[in-house]
Amino acid sequence: MLVKFPKARGKFTNKQMLSELTWLRVGGPAEYFFQPADLDDLMSFMSNLPDNISFFPLGVGSNLLVRDGGIKGVVVRLGRGFNSVEVSNGLVVAGAAALDAFVARTAADHGYDLTFLRTIPGSIGGALKMNAGCYGRYISDYFVSANAVNRSGDLVKLDKTDVSFSYRNTALSADLVIVNVTFAPPSGEVEALHEKMRIQKQKRDNEQPTKEVTAGSTFRNPCAFSSLGQENEDNKFKAWKVIEDAGLRGYQMGAAKMHEKHPNFLTNTGGATASELEELGELVRKKVFKNSGIDLKWEIIRVGDP
Ligand SMILES: Cc1cc2nc3c(=O)[nH]c(=O)nc-3n(C[C@H](O)[C@H](O)[C@H](O)COP(=O)(O)OP(=O)(O)OC[C@H]3O[C@@H](n4cnc5c(N)ncnc54)[C@H](O)[C@@H]3O)c2cc1C
Repeated sequence: MLVKFPKARGKFTNKQMLSELTWLRVGGPAEYFFQPADLDDLMSFMSNLPDNISFFPLGVGSNLLVRDGGIKGVVVRLGRGFNSVEVSNGLVVAGAAALDAFVARTAADHGYDLTFLRTIPGSIGGALKMNAGCYGRYISDYFVSANAVNRSGDLVKLDKTDVSFSYRNTALSADLVIVNVTFAPPSGEVEALHEKMRIQKQKRDNEQPTKEVTAGSTFRNPCAFSSLGQENEDNKFKAWKVIEDAGLRGYQMGAAKMHEKHPNFLTNTGGATASELEELGELVRKKVFKNSGIDLKWEIIRVGDP
Protein backbone atom coordinates (compact mmCIF):
# COMPACT_ATOMS: atom_id res chain seq x y z
CA MET A 1 0.00 0.00 0.00
CA LEU A 2 1.41 3.37 -0.98
CA VAL A 3 1.07 5.85 1.89
CA LYS A 4 1.03 9.55 1.13
CA PHE A 5 2.87 11.33 3.91
CA PRO A 6 2.58 15.05 4.63
CA LYS A 7 5.46 17.22 3.40
CA ALA A 8 7.90 18.04 6.18
CA ARG A 9 10.84 20.38 6.55
CA GLY A 10 12.57 18.12 9.07
CA LYS A 11 14.11 14.70 8.49
CA PHE A 12 11.73 12.05 7.19
CA THR A 13 13.02 8.64 6.32
CA ASN A 14 12.12 4.98 6.47
CA LYS A 15 13.79 1.95 7.95
CA GLN A 16 15.71 3.84 10.64
CA MET A 17 17.32 1.19 12.84
CA LEU A 18 16.20 1.86 16.40
CA SER A 19 19.12 -0.07 17.86
CA GLU A 20 21.15 3.02 16.92
CA LEU A 21 18.91 5.21 19.08
CA THR A 22 18.33 3.17 22.24
CA TRP A 23 20.57 2.80 25.26
CA LEU A 24 20.19 -1.00 25.22
CA ARG A 25 21.43 -0.99 21.60
CA VAL A 26 18.62 -3.27 20.46
CA GLY A 27 15.53 -2.78 18.33
CA GLY A 28 14.57 -3.34 14.72
CA PRO A 29 13.65 -0.57 12.28
CA ALA A 30 11.11 2.20 12.59
CA GLU A 31 8.89 1.73 9.54
CA TYR A 32 9.03 5.53 9.15
CA PHE A 33 11.06 8.02 11.13
CA PHE A 34 10.37 11.73 11.53
CA GLN A 35 12.47 14.40 13.19
CA PRO A 36 10.53 17.69 12.93
CA ALA A 37 12.44 20.90 12.24
CA ASP A 38 10.35 22.88 14.73
CA LEU A 39 6.93 23.11 16.36
CA ASP A 40 5.11 24.26 13.19
CA ASP A 41 6.61 21.37 11.25
CA LEU A 42 5.45 18.89 13.90
CA MET A 43 1.93 20.34 14.08
CA SER A 44 1.53 20.39 10.31
CA PHE A 45 2.86 16.82 9.98
CA MET A 46 0.55 15.48 12.69
CA SER A 47 -2.52 17.23 11.32
CA ASN A 48 -1.96 15.61 7.93
CA LEU A 49 -0.87 12.16 9.10
CA PRO A 50 -3.17 9.50 7.59
CA ASP A 51 -5.54 8.07 10.23
CA ASN A 52 -4.40 4.51 9.67
CA ILE A 53 -0.75 5.29 10.46
CA SER A 54 0.24 4.91 14.10
CA PHE A 55 3.02 6.90 15.70
CA PHE A 56 5.35 6.51 18.65
CA PRO A 57 7.19 9.39 20.36
CA LEU A 58 10.80 8.47 21.10
CA GLY A 59 13.00 10.34 23.57
CA VAL A 60 16.64 9.31 23.78
CA GLY A 61 15.71 5.67 24.33
CA SER A 62 17.11 5.32 27.85
CA ASN A 63 14.05 3.53 29.20
CA LEU A 64 13.09 1.41 26.22
CA LEU A 65 13.43 -2.14 25.06
CA VAL A 66 12.48 -1.96 21.38
CA ARG A 67 11.81 -5.44 20.06
CA ASP A 68 13.73 -6.94 17.14
CA GLY A 69 10.88 -6.53 14.65
CA GLY A 70 10.93 -2.75 15.10
CA ILE A 71 8.03 -0.31 15.34
CA LYS A 72 5.24 -0.01 12.75
CA GLY A 73 4.10 3.44 11.70
CA VAL A 74 6.03 6.63 12.37
CA VAL A 75 8.54 7.06 15.16
CA VAL A 76 8.72 10.77 16.03
CA ARG A 77 11.90 11.97 17.66
CA LEU A 78 12.34 15.59 18.66
CA GLY A 79 15.72 17.16 18.07
CA ARG A 80 17.40 20.52 17.96
CA GLY A 81 14.24 22.59 17.48
CA PHE A 82 13.01 21.40 20.89
CA ASN A 83 15.98 21.52 23.21
CA SER A 84 16.02 25.05 24.58
CA VAL A 85 15.91 25.81 28.32
CA GLU A 86 14.61 29.17 29.50
CA VAL A 87 14.67 30.44 33.07
CA SER A 88 12.66 33.45 34.19
CA ASN A 89 10.45 34.57 37.07
CA GLY A 90 11.15 31.44 39.08
CA LEU A 91 10.11 29.12 36.27
CA VAL A 92 12.20 26.79 34.13
CA VAL A 93 10.75 25.99 30.71
CA ALA A 94 12.56 23.06 29.11
CA GLY A 95 12.10 21.73 25.59
CA ALA A 96 11.13 18.07 25.46
CA ALA A 97 14.36 17.15 23.66
CA ALA A 98 16.58 18.87 26.23
CA LEU A 99 18.64 16.34 28.16
CA ASP A 100 17.85 16.10 31.87
CA ALA A 101 21.48 16.77 32.82
CA PHE A 102 21.55 19.97 30.74
CA VAL A 103 18.32 21.18 32.32
CA ALA A 104 19.69 20.48 35.81
CA ARG A 105 22.91 22.37 35.07
CA THR A 106 21.18 25.32 33.42
CA ALA A 107 18.70 25.64 36.30
CA ALA A 108 21.60 25.50 38.78
CA ASP A 109 23.47 28.23 36.88
CA HIS A 110 20.43 30.44 37.50
CA GLY A 111 20.14 29.40 41.18
CA TYR A 112 17.32 26.86 40.86
CA ASP A 113 17.32 23.33 42.18
CA LEU A 114 16.45 20.66 39.63
CA THR A 115 19.59 18.79 40.67
CA PHE A 116 17.75 15.45 40.88
CA LEU A 117 17.73 15.42 37.07
CA ARG A 118 21.52 15.59 36.78
CA THR A 119 22.17 11.83 36.70
CA ILE A 120 19.06 10.69 34.82
CA PRO A 121 20.18 10.08 31.25
CA GLY A 122 16.90 10.82 29.42
CA SER A 123 15.25 13.82 27.79
CA ILE A 124 12.58 16.02 29.41
CA GLY A 125 9.81 14.48 27.27
CA GLY A 126 10.72 11.00 28.51
CA ALA A 127 11.19 12.29 32.06
CA LEU A 128 7.66 13.71 32.13
CA LYS A 129 6.09 10.62 30.61
CA MET A 130 7.89 8.38 33.14
CA ASN A 131 7.62 10.75 36.13
CA ALA A 132 11.37 10.25 36.41
CA GLY A 133 12.84 10.52 39.86
CA CYS A 134 16.06 10.21 41.75
CA TYR A 135 17.38 10.79 45.27
CA GLY A 136 13.87 11.30 46.64
CA ARG A 137 12.73 13.89 44.09
CA TYR A 138 10.37 13.39 41.16
CA ILE A 139 9.20 15.36 38.13
CA SER A 140 5.80 15.54 39.87
CA ASP A 141 7.37 17.64 42.69
CA TYR A 142 8.14 20.63 40.45
CA PHE A 143 5.79 20.23 37.50
CA VAL A 144 3.61 23.21 36.60
CA SER A 145 2.37 22.46 33.08
CA ALA A 146 3.39 21.04 29.72
CA ASN A 147 2.60 21.65 26.07
CA ALA A 148 2.01 18.79 23.69
CA VAL A 149 0.88 18.23 20.12
CA ASN A 150 -2.01 15.82 19.70
CA ARG A 151 -2.90 13.47 16.88
CA SER A 152 -4.88 16.23 15.14
CA GLY A 153 -1.87 18.54 15.14
CA ASP A 154 -3.24 20.89 17.83
CA LEU A 155 -1.05 22.33 20.56
CA VAL A 156 -2.61 21.47 23.93
CA LYS A 157 -1.70 22.62 27.43
CA LEU A 158 -1.57 19.98 30.16
CA ASP A 159 -1.82 20.54 33.88
CA LYS A 160 -1.20 18.16 36.79
CA THR A 161 -4.67 16.66 36.51
CA ASP A 162 -4.16 15.82 32.82
CA VAL A 163 -0.81 14.17 33.56
CA SER A 164 -1.99 12.20 36.62
CA PHE A 165 1.37 11.24 38.09
CA SER A 166 2.05 7.90 39.69
CA TYR A 167 5.30 6.18 40.68
CA ARG A 168 7.53 6.10 37.56
CA ASN A 169 4.44 6.58 35.41
CA THR A 170 1.75 8.99 34.20
CA ALA A 171 -1.61 8.67 32.53
CA LEU A 172 -0.46 10.70 29.51
CA SER A 173 -2.04 9.43 26.32
CA ALA A 174 0.27 7.75 23.82
CA ASP A 175 -1.31 10.07 21.23
CA LEU A 176 0.56 13.13 22.52
CA VAL A 177 4.00 14.41 21.63
CA ILE A 178 5.20 16.50 24.58
CA VAL A 179 7.03 19.58 23.30
CA ASN A 180 7.98 21.40 26.49
CA VAL A 181 7.57 21.30 30.26
CA THR A 182 7.43 24.13 32.83
CA PHE A 183 8.85 23.60 36.32
CA ALA A 184 8.75 25.73 39.47
CA PRO A 185 11.86 24.60 41.38
CA PRO A 186 13.07 25.87 44.74
CA SER A 187 15.98 28.29 44.66
CA GLY A 188 19.48 27.54 45.91
CA GLU A 189 23.00 28.87 45.97
CA VAL A 190 24.72 28.30 42.60
CA GLU A 191 27.96 26.77 43.93
CA ALA A 192 26.09 24.54 46.40
CA LEU A 193 23.80 23.23 43.66
CA HIS A 194 26.75 22.32 41.44
CA GLU A 195 28.48 20.63 44.37
CA LYS A 196 25.31 18.65 45.13
CA MET A 197 25.26 17.42 41.52
CA ARG A 198 28.94 16.50 41.65
CA ILE A 199 28.30 14.34 44.72
CA GLN A 200 25.21 12.74 43.18
CA LYS A 201 27.16 11.84 40.04
CA GLN A 202 29.95 10.29 42.08
CA LYS A 203 27.44 8.30 44.15
CA ARG A 204 25.71 7.09 41.00
CA ASP A 205 28.99 5.99 39.37
CA ASN A 206 29.96 4.14 42.57
CA GLU A 207 26.68 2.28 42.95
CA GLN A 208 25.48 1.62 39.41
CA PRO A 209 27.02 0.30 36.18
CA THR A 210 26.69 3.70 34.48
CA LYS A 211 29.22 2.90 31.76
CA GLU A 212 27.49 -0.33 30.66
CA VAL A 213 24.78 -0.86 28.05
CA THR A 214 21.59 -0.79 30.14
CA ALA A 215 18.27 1.07 30.39
CA GLY A 216 18.59 1.77 34.12
CA SER A 217 16.28 0.01 36.54
CA THR A 218 14.54 -2.86 34.81
CA PHE A 219 11.71 -3.34 37.31
CA ARG A 220 9.84 -0.91 39.54
CA ASN A 221 10.56 -1.17 43.24
CA PRO A 222 7.77 -3.35 44.67
CA CYS A 223 6.78 -1.01 47.49
CA ALA A 224 3.87 1.20 48.41
CA PHE A 225 3.49 4.51 46.59
CA SER A 226 2.10 7.80 47.75
CA SER A 227 -0.74 9.62 45.99
CA LEU A 228 1.86 12.20 44.85
CA GLY A 229 3.46 9.68 42.55
CA GLN A 230 6.38 9.11 44.89
CA GLU A 231 7.91 5.97 46.20
CA ASN A 232 7.18 5.42 49.88
CA GLU A 233 10.70 5.72 51.24
CA ASP A 234 9.71 4.09 54.54
CA ASN A 235 9.17 0.83 52.77
CA LYS A 236 12.61 -0.46 51.87
CA PHE A 237 11.46 -3.21 49.54
CA LYS A 238 13.80 -2.83 46.57
CA ALA A 239 13.73 -4.66 43.24
CA TRP A 240 17.49 -5.23 43.33
CA LYS A 241 17.16 -6.94 46.74
CA VAL A 242 14.45 -9.41 45.73
CA ILE A 243 16.45 -10.20 42.57
CA GLU A 244 19.54 -10.78 44.68
CA ASP A 245 17.57 -12.93 47.14
CA ALA A 246 16.51 -15.11 44.21
CA GLY A 247 20.21 -15.72 43.50
CA LEU A 248 20.25 -13.67 40.32
CA ARG A 249 22.94 -11.05 40.92
CA GLY A 250 25.21 -11.38 37.88
CA TYR A 251 22.94 -14.02 36.30
CA GLN A 252 23.71 -14.30 32.58
CA MET A 253 21.91 -15.85 29.61
CA GLY A 254 23.92 -15.47 26.42
CA ALA A 255 24.86 -11.81 26.14
CA ALA A 256 22.06 -10.68 28.46
CA LYS A 257 22.93 -10.23 32.14
CA MET A 258 21.57 -8.90 35.43
CA HIS A 259 24.56 -6.80 36.42
CA GLU A 260 26.75 -7.77 39.38
CA LYS A 261 27.10 -4.17 40.52
CA HIS A 262 23.31 -3.58 40.56
CA PRO A 263 21.15 -6.68 39.98
CA ASN A 264 18.14 -4.64 38.77
CA PHE A 265 20.17 -3.45 35.74
CA LEU A 266 19.50 -5.68 32.73
CA THR A 267 22.66 -5.40 30.65
CA ASN A 268 23.54 -6.04 27.03
CA THR A 269 27.10 -7.29 27.37
CA GLY A 270 27.54 -7.17 23.58
CA GLY A 271 25.37 -8.42 20.72
CA ALA A 272 22.28 -9.47 22.74
CA THR A 273 18.98 -9.31 20.85
CA ALA A 274 15.89 -7.64 22.28
CA SER A 275 14.23 -11.03 22.61
CA GLU A 276 17.16 -12.39 24.65
CA LEU A 277 17.01 -9.39 26.97
CA GLU A 278 13.23 -9.69 27.36
CA GLU A 279 13.50 -13.43 27.92
CA LEU A 280 16.01 -12.92 30.73
CA GLY A 281 13.75 -10.24 32.26
CA GLU A 282 10.78 -12.61 32.20
CA LEU A 283 12.87 -15.40 33.70
CA VAL A 284 13.90 -13.09 36.53
CA ARG A 285 10.23 -12.23 37.17
CA LYS A 286 9.36 -15.94 37.38
CA LYS A 287 12.25 -16.82 39.69
CA VAL A 288 11.60 -13.84 41.97
CA PHE A 289 7.94 -14.77 42.19
CA LYS A 290 8.82 -18.35 43.06
CA ASN A 291 11.32 -17.22 45.68
CA SER A 292 9.45 -14.40 47.38
CA GLY A 293 5.92 -14.26 45.93
CA ILE A 294 6.65 -10.78 44.56
CA ASP A 295 5.37 -10.05 41.08
CA LEU A 296 7.91 -7.60 39.62
CA LYS A 297 6.57 -5.06 37.14
CA TRP A 298 8.67 -3.86 34.21
CA GLU A 299 9.82 -0.25 34.53
CA ILE A 300 11.53 -0.45 31.14
CA ILE A 301 8.93 0.08 28.42
CA ARG A 302 8.84 -2.71 25.89
CA VAL A 303 7.59 -1.70 22.45
CA GLY A 304 7.42 -3.01 18.91
CA ASP A 305 7.07 -6.36 17.19
CA PRO A 306 9.00 -9.46 18.25
C1 LIG B 1 22.00 4.33 33.42
C2 LIG B 1 20.56 4.72 33.57
C3 LIG B 1 20.11 5.24 34.78
C4 LIG B 1 18.78 5.62 34.94
N1 LIG B 1 18.37 6.15 36.13
C5 LIG B 1 17.11 6.57 36.29
C6 LIG B 1 16.68 7.18 37.52
O1 LIG B 1 17.45 7.35 38.44
N2 LIG B 1 15.41 7.58 37.61
C7 LIG B 1 14.51 7.43 36.61
O2 LIG B 1 13.35 7.82 36.75
N3 LIG B 1 14.87 6.84 35.43
C8 LIG B 1 16.14 6.42 35.25
N4 LIG B 1 16.53 5.85 34.07
C9 LIG B 1 15.53 5.61 33.01
C10 LIG B 1 15.38 6.75 31.99
O3 LIG B 1 16.54 7.53 31.89
C11 LIG B 1 14.18 7.64 32.31
O4 LIG B 1 12.98 6.91 32.34
C12 LIG B 1 14.05 8.77 31.29
O5 LIG B 1 13.15 9.73 31.80
C13 LIG B 1 13.57 8.32 29.92
O6 LIG B 1 13.72 9.40 29.01
P1 LIG B 1 14.03 9.15 27.47
O7 LIG B 1 14.13 10.47 26.80
O8 LIG B 1 15.20 8.26 27.32
O9 LIG B 1 12.69 8.41 27.01
P2 LIG B 1 12.54 7.08 26.15
O10 LIG B 1 13.22 5.97 26.83
O11 LIG B 1 12.92 7.34 24.74
O12 LIG B 1 10.96 6.88 26.23
C14 LIG B 1 10.36 6.57 27.47
C15 LIG B 1 8.85 6.85 27.34
O13 LIG B 1 8.65 8.25 27.19
C16 LIG B 1 7.91 8.52 26.00
N5 LIG B 1 8.42 9.79 25.44
C17 LIG B 1 9.68 10.19 25.27
N6 LIG B 1 9.73 11.42 24.76
C18 LIG B 1 8.44 11.82 24.57
C19 LIG B 1 7.81 12.99 24.06
N7 LIG B 1 8.51 14.04 23.63
N8 LIG B 1 6.45 13.03 24.03
C20 LIG B 1 5.71 11.97 24.47
N9 LIG B 1 6.24 10.85 24.96
C21 LIG B 1 7.60 10.76 25.02
C22 LIG B 1 8.16 7.33 25.08
O14 LIG B 1 7.10 7.17 24.15
C23 LIG B 1 8.21 6.20 26.10
O15 LIG B 1 6.90 5.82 26.43
C24 LIG B 1 17.86 5.46 33.87
C25 LIG B 1 18.33 4.95 32.65
C26 LIG B 1 19.65 4.58 32.48
C27 LIG B 1 20.12 4.07 31.16
